[in-house]
Order: sequence, then C-alpha cells, then structure tokens
Amino acid sequence: MIIHTIKELRELVKGWRKEGYSIGLVPTMGALHAGHRSLIEKSVEKCDKTVVSVFVNPIQFCPGEDLDKYPRTLDEDEELVNDVGADVVFAPSPKEMYGEGHILSNDFLTYVIPPYFYVDKLCGKSRVGHFDGVCTVVNKLFNIVQPDFAFFGEKDRQQLIILKKMVKDLNIPVEIIACPIVREKSGLALSSRNKYLTEDQKNDALALSKILFNIKACYNKGINDVSALSETAYSYLNSNHSLEYLEFRDCNDLDEKKTADDDTIVFIALKIGNVRLIDNIKLGL
Ligand code: AMP
Repeated sequence: MIIHTIKELRELVKGWRKEGYSIGLVPTMGALHAGHRSLIEKSVEKCDKTVVSVFVNPIQFCPGEDLDKYPRTLDEDEELVNDVGADVVFAPSPKEMYGEGHILSNDFLTYVIPPYFYVDKLCGKSRVGHFDGVCTVVNKLFNIVQPDFAFFGEKDRQQLIILKKMVKDLNIPVEIIACPIVREKSGLALSSRNKYLTEDQKNDALALSKILFNIKACYNKGINDVSALSETAYSYLNSNHSLEYLEFRDCNDLDEKKTADDDTIVFIALKIGNVRLIDNIKLGL
C-alpha cells in the first residue's frame, strides 16, 4: 500500500495503536537497494507493523547538490517494500511535508538544529545545514508515525550518532535501532548514489572499503597510532580520487582520536568525478 498524505497515514497508525500493535519506521530517500532492504527486514521481524518512508528531503540538500537528479524509483521501491512484507510506503510530496512556504523559501520553517560539536566535522563541514535538514525531517516523521522503533543504517554513521543524540536530548519516545552496513561482494558499501558511477568509477570506488579494511587489519595487528594508520591509505588513492576526509573519531560523541581503540570509527569521504561517496568502519567489535 502507498500513502501520500499525512492525514491518511495518521488514520492508519491510529488504528494500529488501538489494536496495540508495535510500529517500526524506516526512513529513506528511496531508490531502495539491499542496504535499505536489510533495515526493512529488521523492522518487519521486530515490529507488528512497518512504515517505510520514501521522501527525497529537499531541505537536507545544499545548494549545488544532486537534489534534482537524485534517483526516484517509487514503483520499484513499492515492490521491494511489499516483497519484504512491510505494511505501507509513505511517499509525501515536499508540499505535503513543508507546505507552499517551503517551496519558495526555507524561511518559514521551524528547524531542529543538532549541537554544533556534532556537525562541525566530517560530512557536516562540507554539507553546511545538511544535518539540520535531516533532524528536522526525521523529527517530523517521528511525530507523524509515532513509531516505537526507528531503523537507521551505520552507513550514515554521523547521521545515526546525531539522531540518537536528538532522541535523547528531546526525550522522543522512540528506540533507534542501528543496522550494519550492507556491502557488495567487492566491499563497496551499497548506496543509491552508486547509480551515478560508471564501471571504471565503480572500480575506483573500491578504494573506500579497501582503505578502511586495511586500517582495521593494521589495528588488529597492534598499530594504534592514528597518523601511522592514516598513512596506509595513500597507496590506495590515485588521481581519480579527491579525498575529502579520513578521520578517526569516537563512536559515541565523535571526539577526535589520536590513538585508536575499539571505540574508534574510521570515517572516509571521497569524490570520484562529481560523485561523493562515504564509508566508515568501527575498529572494535
Ligand atoms: P537513504 O535513502 O540514503 O537516506 O538511506 C536510508 C537509510 O538506509 C539510512 O538509515 C541509511 O543509513 C541506510 N542505508 C543506506 N545504505 C545502506 C547500506 N549500504 N547498508 C545499511 N544501511 C544503509
């Protein structure tokens, strides 16, 4: 089933609540792949009812980013959601979510702004305002669906950490469930943006996971000096890569690590042509 309006979705979930059903929410921007599928499967397994939202959220894109060309494949998305056994796709329009005011200007919107310390680094540094847009839309979806559980991928680890902080700070009655990164056999983390890559670029994109897997292997051998671990990345990079960051940070508060430990996450972002890709790995179990 697909629903486009907040009113209809609210009526549906109200009925579910009356029946005492537990509700899971899987927020996505669509162009669903096996990574999204794993989140939906987790929700279907854990909850009586599952809502999958498909919404390319305009306010989380910065000027000059790929908002217009972001892949939109709603029919296929609905098929995948049905196939996994989730109950409803919620696919609102930007107008439904933000009203007319937003479409011309963001000025009329109340935003949820995460703490500066969490957004002045990693993706937040180049994507200014991105996490304001993410927190705002996720907060709206939480208010619309009022789920018991919400499922997010570790693929977007900074986002996950920020959303956990938002839920804690704002006492939102939802439990966030973190789901592991789904990768191709090659190691490449699945992403809707992989669709932008040519075959050659896909080959170049393997550098991300290779760098991370190698750093973890070096750490497992006993190397914990962050500069020594960072150095190992360079042999995987060529002139097609433009490295945006390779950083070692704490898994709870994103604080910088000088010495790696089991709570360290290694974050990487690089551009291949115009395509920006991210990945990360936790050094401990
Ligand atoms: P997106 O549609 O890119 O906004 O992603 C929606 C959700 O799916 C987010 O919580 C992502 O972290 C998660 N996700 C995207 N790719 C993957 C992946 N390869 N493995 C696990 N989760 C993923």
